[in-house]
Amino acid sequence: MLGELYEPHGLALETANAVLEVKHPFAVNVALGCPNGCSYCYGPLSCKVKRENWTNMRTPKEAPTELVRKQLAKMFEKEPLLSMSGFPRGVFLSFFTDCFHPDNRKNTEDLIDYLTFGLSSTQIATSSKLGIYEGEHGSYRIKNGISLVSIDERFWKTFEPNAASPKDRLKSLCVGHERGFSWLSMEPYPSSAIWKQDLNKFLEEVTFWGVDLIVFGKWNYDKRASTEEARLEYKTNVNVLVDFCKSNKIRLHVKSETLDFVNGGKRGR
Ligand code: SF4
Repeated sequence: MLGELYEPHGLALETANAVLEVKHPFAVNVALGCPNGCSYCYGPLSCKVKRENWTNMRTPKEAPTELVRKQLAKMFEKEPLLSMSGFPRGVFLSFFTDCFHPDNRKNTEDLIDYLTFGLSSTQIATSSKLGIYEGEHGSYRIKNGISLVSIDERFWKTFEPNAASPKDRLKSLCVGHERGFSWLSMEPYPSSAIWKQDLNKFLEEVTFWGVDLIVFGKWNYDKRASTEEARLEYKTNVNVLVDFCKSNKIRLHVKSETLDFVNGGKRGR
């Protein structure tokens, strides 16, 4: 249910595992739909919502903190949480909205405060194109994530005009890094048939601002990102990323579908 803890599956689980580094991560969607309205967003497809309706965000009837508190209380009635295999060691916020959209920020920060106070060993991951957690508990247990696939302002204006500018996202990445941990979602990374750009320049910029983990994934649902040319290009990109992250001591996770594609497996979605 919207606003409650659930166990993600498939590619969402892969991302949550990579960021949180726990075996059975949970997630909470603090809303469904996203006013950022990025033209490449996979959300409408995953949630079977018409693209034109995706920007009409639906929020839960009760605050997510209340919903999660009630869920945990029910779990606790059955057995003490710490002895439970299902105890939430990591919580990802959120897959189907921007958790720091102004209409979501309070719900997100209240939930982070509740989880960091209440569950002393739980890691929290966020993912946003607008910002990071600005509350008081700037501990290493909050893994602030910024989604950015291009520092070209023309790309921003073309594909994601309601998101923060690339410069502002780099600043957020830097603040998150200084507070303890920031991760970068480089997904969906465009093939050059979609948008031509210099990956090395992008990585140098990102490293200058500071990042601890990069999650890389190809652009999907577009034939221009599934051609043989795109396969070779993504293969080169992955090799560049591996070398770059190794020399800059940045953890790297390349999404399994992207690896399959570059290794000649599926043609990608
Ligand atoms: S910020 Fe994320 S969820 Fe929101 S529209 Fe863009 S891709 Fe979709």
